[in-house]
Amino acid sequence: MINQHFKEIVARATKVVHLFNYCELCEQAIPFSIATDVATNIALNKTSTIGQKITQTVGQQSGLCDQCASLIPHFQLTELKGDLLNRPEIHTLYNKCHFDQLIAIAPYQFPISDWLKQFKYLGKWQYQRLCACLLQHHLQEVIKISDFCQPDIVLPVPIHIKRWQQRGFNQTLPLAHVVANLFNIECNADCLARQAQTGTQAQASGSVRRKQLKGNFSLICDPKTLAGKHIALVDDVVTTGATVSEISRLLKTAKVSSVSVYCLALSL
Ligand SMILES: [Zn+2]
Repeated sequence: MINQHFKEIVARATKVVHLFNYCELCEQAIPFSIATDVATNIALNKTSTIGQKITQTVGQQSGLCDQCASLIPHFQLTELKGDLLNRPEIHTLYNKCHFDQLIAIAPYQFPISDWLKQFKYLGKWQYQRLCACLLQHHLQEVIKISDFCQPDIVLPVPIHIKRWQQRGFNQTLPLAHVVANLFNIECNADCLARQAQTGTQAQASGSVRRKQLKGNFSLICDPKTLAGKHIALVDDVVTTGATVSEISRLLKTAKVSSVSVYCLALSL
């Protein structure tokens, strides 16, 4: 029994060392002191989890070498107090939208665009982990530079049931879980439903997209549970803003106090 337990520990430790041994992007070897540290702790059967141990940098969190981590594009948010709606051109672009704050890591470009495709369309879960780590790290940075107003509840943008059946998962849900864990608040994936499948945002302008999406979402929870709450609405990519705006409009009919949109990338 003890031998079996020890074998399982070694197997887990070996997997961890392998996972963090090479950069996910350039495949260069990463010094694996952290991985061996994690492995040692697991072998010693300490209670620390892998997530708790790997907290130093975004690269270490996400399995990237420091060089690749430094290449990830980021919006410069210091002067914007973390909110992209404070940027004039973005404020103008989304002036008809119903959300109150917009936080995105970066423009929709390599490598985040590539990772999202790998995760979303090919189901490669290591890229989901990368994206989730980036979002977590970015929010931590925004908290440092702004009078951050913590949300009360996290809602992932829903996908239509047919798309969910095809894809097998909703790509926004693991991102929403990361946000919920960061703030230690509830993530409710059973609050919103998408009524119909629509084309991708790249195929339509903002005004066309807003018309397509009008009435396309419904609340399937008790609106009273949302009243007065600050909602974090989590999406993977925001393009025209029509999807998150339509959901925000719906949420405001339930008298939520405000809606903050958190996403990985902005595709303008
Ligand atoms: Zn690298």
